[in-house]
This record gives sequence, C-alpha cells and structure tokens, in this order.
Amino acid sequence: MKDISNQHITILGAVISGIAVAKLAKKLGAVPFVSDLSTGIDRERLKELDELGIEYEIGGHTNKVFNCDYIITSPGVPSNSKVLSEAVEKNIKIISELEFASWFNKGTIIAITGTNGKTTTTSLCEHVLNRCGKKTKLAGNIGIAFSDIVLGIQEDEFVALEVSSFQLDHIETFKPKFAIILNITPDHLDRYEDNFDYYVGSKFQIAKNQDDDDFFIFNSDDKVVSSFRKRSTGCYGISLAPLTEDGCYIDNEIIYFNHDDETVEVGSTKYITLRGEHNRYNALAVITVAKLLGIDNDSILKAVSSFTGVEHRLELVKVIKGIEFVNDSKATNVESVWYALRSFKKPIYLILGGKDKGNNYSRIKELVKKNVKKIYAIGSSAEKVYDYFQNYVQVEKMDSLEACVNKAMEEADSGDIVLLSPACASFDMFKNYEHRGEVFKKAVESLSI
Ligand code: ADP
Repeated sequence: MKDISNQHITILGAVISGIAVAKLAKKLGAVPFVSDLSTGIDRERLKELDELGIEYEIGGHTNKVFNCDYIITSPGVPSNSKVLSEAVEKNIKIISELEFASWFNKGTIIAITGTNGKTTTTSLCEHVLNRCGKKTKLAGNIGIAFSDIVLGIQEDEFVALEVSSFQLDHIETFKPKFAIILNITPDHLDRYEDNFDYYVGSKFQIAKNQDDDDFFIFNSDDKVVSSFRKRSTGCYGISLAPLTEDGCYIDNEIIYFNHDDETVEVGSTKYITLRGEHNRYNALAVITVAKLLGIDNDSILKAVSSFTGVEHRLELVKVIKGIEFVNDSKATNVESVWYALRSFKKPIYLILGGKDKGNNYSRIKELVKKNVKKIYAIGSSAEKVYDYFQNYVQVEKMDSLEACVNKAMEEADSGDIVLLSPACASFDMFKNYEHRGEVFKKAVESLSI
C-alpha cells in the first residue's frame, strides 16, 4: 500500500467524493486541504471536516490550493477551469478520486463505463456476484465514493465500480482487472470542447493500464467502441448477434459465451428479466465477468433473473385501468430515449423535455412517428420539442409534470404506456433527476381513479 504520510494534498470540491478523499487521506497520515468555489456547501459535510481537524476553504480558491504535493480534483471541476489551468502551469500533478483510492485497493476491480447503462450494469454486477458467492461492494459514481470503502475491501473480494469519463480524465496508474465499455454516444460534450474524440479518448482511459492478464469487455455492436484497436488477448465482445471472436452474445434467444476457442451455451434470454434491448447488453457484460470468474451457468442465470432493476430507469410505477405508467427520469440524453421507445410494443404517451444539452432529435424521429401517440413537452426546452415534433406527431406544451400525468390519464387507453423519458437534464424544474422521478411517481400515485 502506498505511503502518503505527511503528504500535502489539495482536494478540489467539497462534494461526496471530495469529503471521502479528505477523510481517507487524513486517516492515512497525509495533510488534506479542501477547497471549493461554492458557498452553498452542505453544512453537515463541513462539520465532518471540522471534527476531523481537516482544513478547508469555501467560496473561492486561494493560493493555498497550490501549496501541495498534488491535487485531487472532483468530477464537477472542469479541466479548463482557472484553478486547474493554473495548477497545470505550475506543474502540479492532478489526479482524480478514482486514481487516489485505487492506490489503497487490495481487491479485484470491475470498472464499468459508457455513456448509458453504468448504474444499471454496476448494480447488476454487484447483485449477481454477491448472489454467486463472490463478496462484492458497490462504489464509484453511484453515490458511494470508492475512497469511503476501499480500506474495507479484502484481497479475495470484488468492487463493482461505476466510472465516469471525468474520473478517467485524471488517472495515472488505475488498473482494473475487468474494464467494461458499454457504449459511447455524444454526451457531456460541453466538457470536452465539443470534441467527440476527446470524450471517446477519456472513456478508453479505463483500459490504458491493463495488460494481457486483464479483461477488457466491450460492446461489439457499438461502432465507436468496437473501432478501437484492441489488445491481442483478454478482450471480450458483447453482442446481440453471433460473435466469432471471444465474448458473450445472443443468437435465437440463447446466450452463448466464446472463450478459449470454444463456444458454450449459457442459457435462455428469458432469464434477462429487465425490459429493453439495452438491458440485454448490460446483462451480457455482467455474464461475461461471471463466466470469466468461473461461475456456473445456473447460478449466473438465477442471479441475473432475480435483479429487479434500478429506480428511475424504465421503472414501472403503476398500472391504472390498463395504462402502464413508467418512470425513466434518468433518461437525460436522446440515446437512452431511443432505447426506451424500443422497449415497448404498445403505443406511448411520451413526456419529453427539460434542460436541453444540445439535443439532436433526429435519432428518435422515426421511432416517435412509429411508436408515440402524443408528446407532452415540458421544461425550458418545451418550445424546441414542440417545434421539432409537431409535424410528425401530436405535441402539447405542458406547465408541470403533474399536468402531464393528469392529461395522460384522460387521454390514454387501456394498453397504452405513459412514459417519462425526458432526454434532458432536470435542473430547470427540479433539484435532480431523482426529484423529477419522485414528482412523477407521486403524481401517478395521487391519480383519483
Ligand atoms: P448511467 O449511469 O450511465 O447514466 P443508467 O443505468 O443510470 O446509466 O441509465 C440511464 C438511462 O439510460 C436510463 O434511461 C436507462 O434506461 C438507459 N440505459 C440503461 N442501459 C443502457 C444501455 N446499455 N444503452 C443505452 N441506454 C441505456
């Protein structure tokens, strides 16, 4: 384990991961200093720092920030921010919380990234491995900082780690035994100078320190992911069509695994109970990990089928008079809505809109024309949604989510789907996507039938 005693470490961002880093650094004998631009920091978090005798500043960065051996930055701090640019000029090393925590890890890391599906796949991975007798912890971009749990992970244990591109931007030695890239489509480009290649490069950092004994699991059907030059060994594709190379695929509703020049039948797709094609990819990624760990097919399939999904991701809220209300509030980009619209065979009343991140709706135009009966447009992008779709499908601008739910209840028929899958961030009307999902669910629950 790396010795960091007496090192002076500046931590940018008094957020969940920043506080966790500060606590870990202090515990290991270093001298952490936390600095945050915002004044609106959670008092409880600052109290925690006070109690541990950890120094901090809020409401701006002073020069004290640069008085350190290295900086650990939080995902919320843009790479081109003044403070990081100045640190680069001063030749100060900048790393992410992911890099830092990994210095103290003794267990096996399964790192999962992608534009969409990270949380679902990470949760499924933790669920399946634990059910199959492999002690696994959940961490990363999922609300549990790696730094908070890393010291508790034993050598024979696993960690399912959700990894964002921002965390990968600042790694040096981070080397997961399993690295998974689920998909890459344009998102967060505002953080990458509108350059898709930068964003792609950032995602592929996940495998940069891997060697031939490690495993790289990638989506063979995703043009961007599969065009990346792979290593000669340890690479496993996942696909919804037969694969000739190593990997896991589905053919005729049967899951197969190619490994060591052999194809084995894992079992029927009926065990993948999560709805939608996208969840087949998520499941295949986890099944690949489980197979590589030598777990038997029956245990894997039983474990996969007992996973009920993650809140706010195509979550069935209630069926009222034959109308299914589905909460997909986490669909904050167009690609995830594309998958959502393909997940139902029934007509859809779609609630779309929010804080737009530069959406291009052409990706879902044909699906909307085919599968959607009506769009309820909400939030600050309601006008854009209305303008784009009005020639293809009925669109109505609405003032609130509650109004959408009430109207949909009036207009939909038995057998229809009412789907909140907004393709946008939530910050124009809600605290976050969880809040948006809760408001939707409450509105559904309070429908008077
Ligand atoms: P992330 O953590 O990457 O944001 P989530 O698992 O939270 O991913 O899912 C975000 C949204 O993307 C949800 O609407 C979900 O239904 C959809 N989704 C999940 N997995 C995939 C996938 N493999 N490809 C595309 N969309 C997906």
